[in-house]
Amino acid sequence: MNDATACDIAVIGAGPAGSCAAIAAARAGARVVLVDRSTMPRAKVCGCCLAASGVAALEGAGAGEALADAVPLRAIRVTSRARTMTLAREAGVAIGREELDARLIELARRAGVDVRLETSARVTEDRAIQLTRGARVSTLRANAIIVADGLQGGALDDVPGFEWSIARRSMMGFGALLPANALDCPFGEIRMHVARDGYIGVVRLPSGELDLAAAVAPAALKRAGNVAACARTLLADAAHDAQAVDRARWRGTPQLTRTRASVAARGILVVGDAAGYIEPFTGEGMSWAIATGLAAGELAAREPRAHELWPARCAALVARPKWRCRAIALALRSPTLVGAALVIGARMPRPFERLAARLEGAVLP
Ligand SMILES: Cc1cc2nc3c(=O)[nH]c(=O)nc-3n(C[C@H](O)[C@H](O)[C@H](O)COP(=O)(O)OP(=O)(O)OC[C@H]3O[C@@H](n4cnc5c(N)ncnc54)[C@H](O)[C@@H]3O)c2cc1C
Repeated sequence: MNDATACDIAVIGAGPAGSCAAIAAARAGARVVLVDRSTMPRAKVCGCCLAASGVAALEGAGAGEALADAVPLRAIRVTSRARTMTLAREAGVAIGREELDARLIELARRAGVDVRLETSARVTEDRAIQLTRGARVSTLRANAIIVADGLQGGALDDVPGFEWSIARRSMMGFGALLPANALDCPFGEIRMHVARDGYIGVVRLPSGELDLAAAVAPAALKRAGNVAACARTLLADAAHDAQAVDRARWRGTPQLTRTRASVAARGILVVGDAAGYIEPFTGEGMSWAIATGLAAGELAAREPRAHELWPARCAALVARPKWRCRAIALALRSPTLVGAALVIGARMPRPFERLAARLEGAVLP
């Protein structure tokens, strides 16, 4: 495909949101270019637990094979200050992001998408897309641009009207992969350790490796001195190999809870984390990304004025689950509430299991 004006839809960012948008748009008949600045597979700070709604959305879009070896999740164990509750769950899977993202890109390729990796994109005020690959700069034009560049993208920095608004008490994220024997965590179980200033989740990936992902108050990170020390504080009494935690390759995120001034403007639709994010305790971010990506891709391919419809369509998919997630995140700031929930949940897990199941299925496109 020519770099000039030859594509219908350009998608910026090939995480779950961007790949799903590209797949949906290509299957609806559009000529699609999908651009990502990274080399794939690439690491991503993520708890790697895909909720039932995300699994169903991928399967519904014919992309279920991306989850081929994913580990079914059967339980979540929440620990805080020596109190523990274990909840059974019947849905959702654990899957490494390196595998999931690379497989979705491959599915996009197979759907006919022109995938360009190691290429950074920036939208100009007049809706051209400036592509940079090494020293080479080129311009791409598209009838519609779907921006799926996550929390740290900057693809819309030159377009007025898309400013971020960061929540005052927003947490930051960090995470790493650890060797299989660094911590005790069986396949199919999520282990959440909740402290006053944040929480860390552990899950075993299909490879046997452990994925650790945390959200913490910036002040707690500063107090700990570095992310490994902070991770060890959050893991608290959980038996772990401290050297493995110290040696791990930790990656960080900027502040997590944020909204965009707008999720659409003439010729532009914003999806996934790039459209706004709430901290990750409920583990729904990928499901929101998949749901909004699929919906925006199809809308942009079929509807010339998609950007006018997108704000309401996007809100219908994710506004309610995001508010619920925000309420849970606020409740987690209270040690009294968390303690009470764990005492009750240890004796009567059923209401908590039902709540978790509702969250799991919250966003089906
Ligand atoms: C600590 C933590 C734990 C989490 N745990 C879970 C969990 O258990 N379950 C869950 O569902 N979600 C979880 N999430 C959320 C989840 O990781 C995100 O919601 C999800 O990755 C969003 O997908 P996305 O496609 O919108 O963005 P991303 O996955 O961030 O993808 C964005 C892509 O855009 C590319 N990019 C950026 N800028 C440019 C540019 N200018 N040009 C070209 N490419 C660009 C990047 O390279 C990247 O590949 C967690 C998040 C954190 C921080």
